[in-house]
Amino acid sequence: MANRKIDDKTSLNYLLQSLNVKELKEICKSVNLKGYSRLKKNELIDFITNSLDENEISILIQEQEKNIISNEIEVALKKIKGIERENLSYIKILNEKNHEIELVFKGFNWKTVSYLSITDSNIDDPERDCDCRIGGNLGFCNHFWAGFLFSAKNGFFKLKNWTLTSLPEDIDDIINNIEIKTKTIEENGKEITVYTMRLIKIDDPLASLNGQSVTVYESEITKIQQREYEFEGNIVSYYLLSLKNVKIGPKIARKSEFREENVIKVNELKVRLSEKLYHKNMPQKGDKISFSGQLNIDAFLKAYLIKNVRKITKF
Ligand SMILES: [Zn+2]
Repeated sequence: MANRKIDDKTSLNYLLQSLNVKELKEICKSVNLKGYSRLKKNELIDFITNSLDENEISILIQEQEKNIISNEIEVALKKIKGIERENLSYIKILNEKNHEIELVFKGFNWKTVSYLSITDSNIDDPERDCDCRIGGNLGFCNHFWAGFLFSAKNGFFKLKNWTLTSLPEDIDDIINNIEIKTKTIEENGKEITVYTMRLIKIDDPLASLNGQSVTVYESEITKIQQREYEFEGNIVSYYLLSLKNVKIGPKIARKSEFREENVIKVNELKVRLSEKLYHKNMPQKGDKISFSGQLNIDAFLKAYLIKNVRKITKF
């Protein structure tokens, strides 16, 4: 990144912390270095950063950075979701003013504690520490990224001010999908409030029905909007209905196929009706309707949308 405040050699050192001995040796080989076969991890990192010239270092950063960072962030997200060997248990705000946080990760019979403080004055190279070897050497470990996401979500810093590393293109989406909650834990006989993170998409109740034929058994119309789009030179008009108190499940062709245990309740959902179907039924706000169709996430609405509805029933 052009406006990074630390020098490239330091930056490369941070990044290489995430690689293992084998990967570091592969780098040595690819840049034609000799005499590295017996070196240990930290020696390899020093060897690489000291052997290359400025230009070579800058090229190596460009080649490696994106991969290293997205791999670590991916692991961080898994630990937030709770699907790793070690998962994020809670976050403690140690000092609200300095944005000092402590993240506690728990495994089967171990725990990893990570510390981070991102402020306006240290954002070029924030204060950080971690029980893990990568973070202990100021590398950007997955624990660091969990703290980074929490800090960003909590408004401790603005993403546009972050120049220390490049970031994945979908970083805004990742942060938008994070939800911070509080929980109470007991520490030294006292109850204290800590924070947890979850990913909203993972807890999405409709995920299992995405892409499937579905039946909305019950719903109430809250809004009707007429929309248009252009298709092969023609203007196509349709109606977008917003629904509330929705009971939805796998598509059923007749009442006898209905299974109460398959019903998913959601607070809101959108359905698209063709102009023809709309005029046939003339649904109104407040009407209670049921229908079948295809459920998908609509890229444009960035929400679930049911399409291909052939018939609606008012009740
Ligand atoms: Zn770590």
